[in-house]
Amino acid sequence: TLSDRLDKVFTGLRGKGRLSDADIDATAREIRIALLEADVALPVVREFIGSVKERARGAAVSQALNPAQQIIKIVNEELVGILGGETRRIRYAKTSPTVIMLAGLQGAGKTTLAGKLGRWLKAQGHTPLLVACDLQRPNAVNQLSVVAGQAGVDVYAPQPGNGVGDPIEVARESIEHARRTMHDVVVVDTAGRLGIDAELMAQAAGIRDAVQPDETLFVVDAMIGQDAVTTAIAFQEGVGFSGVVLTKLDGDARGGAALSVRGVTGQPIMFASTGEKLADFDVFHPERMASRILGMGDVLTLIEQAEQAFDAEQAEKMAGKLASRDGFTLEDFLEQMMAIRKMGPIANLLGMLPGAGQMKEQLKNIDDRDLDRTAAIIRSMTPGERNTPKIINASRRVRIANGSGVTVTEVNSLLERFAQAQKMMGQMAGSMGMPGMGPMSK
Ligand code: GDP
Ligand code: MG
Repeated sequence: TLSDRLDKVFTGLRGKGRLSDADIDATAREIRIALLEADVALPVVREFIGSVKERARGAAVSQALNPAQQIIKIVNEELVGILGGETRRIRYAKTSPTVIMLAGLQGAGKTTLAGKLGRWLKAQGHTPLLVACDLQRPNAVNQLSVVAGQAGVDVYAPQPGNGVGDPIEVARESIEHARRTMHDVVVVDTAGRLGIDAELMAQAAGIRDAVQPDETLFVVDAMIGQDAVTTAIAFQEGVGFSGVVLTKLDGDARGGAALSVRGVTGQPIMFASTGEKLADFDVFHPERMASRILGMGDVLTLIEQAEQAFDAEQAEKMAGKLASRDGFTLEDFLEQMMAIRKMGPIANLLGMLPGAGQMKEQLKNIDDRDLDRTAAIIRSMTPGERNTPKIINASRRVRIANGSGVTVTEVNSLLERFAQAQKMMGQMAGSMGMPGMGPMSK
């Protein structure tokens, strides 16, 4: 597996300061193979590897994870990001009915999906109407009626015996019908061919123009692998779509199609189908798909656990320090700043928390160089000074400034910031009710 390969690449790397370019290149090669094995299209793989490399180069080495784990984590985060981050929901029309049109190759799972969507929408309090616009295959209308029956929703179809109707006409009428009969969502099932075909595209485009869908969902079989890209592009050009549904994820496909379609068309994956039954259906979960593509769900869980354990350890250490007589020292201050630097974007997140005003100001002013200077200043202090900053008088400040190559003003400003942080830590510890730290004990 990918994680075994990466373990080999990284043997002996632990403890290095930063991930080297050679390490990152070696890892990128392995990830590339894993993605190609998962059937991700080559151009998408290239672009993906590019962004992973860039992020890995900028990343400071984690103390909680070994380098292999750390890169896997970056790869996973990038994957989840590309696959959509948060799942996009259906955009409902301001005036009913909302029209959802399904498009895709024959056998992709459109008719089954119509039933699944019908069931799902009904469960959310909607009154969906399924519309049969696949008049190509003799049994298609019947198949839609059957799934509608299973879902317990209504179906609109040309009356049998009237000969083959015009799907565009049926589509148009269905919207009128939905209005009259108070159905608030219309799901339009369409015909598909085994391959991409101009006549089919023209028909789908005609239906699109007749019903003006709020959402057009491109339905694609996850098992089609590399073909997903050409098919997706053809449908994007021929009909256009606003979302993607991946079907047959219950099979053994690794799901590379998801990344390819998303990468090539830029449209979000909205739903996932995982079986023939109507209940085998859910909104799309990018994290699940990412671990499936990487083929390392277990590894990702391990990584999460390692990080949590590390964080808990750090927090405990800090709490212990706070509870001790020395309280929060300059040494801790340095450690904390380094931890914030390691967190990167998380620092921004923290800063966005309501009520974290003071923290936000501090975080905003922290950049890497600033941290390095701060570290230098603290390292120029004696252990006594670090533990009891009160003793740092004017002459000591001059000595520290000279020792670390900064001005006395900078030393002063550091000590000031530290005093603020110390106060904050004291307040936090007090409000968390740590033994011996509350204002009561002072
Ligand atoms: P359509 O031609 O696009 O309308 O595709 P259908 O809805 O008729 O589905 C084609 C076949 O795939 C049927 O036998 C379905 O039962 C099956 N199918 C659809 N979705 C899934 C799925 O998510 N998993 C599995 N295993 N089979 C599916
Ligand atoms: Mg069908």
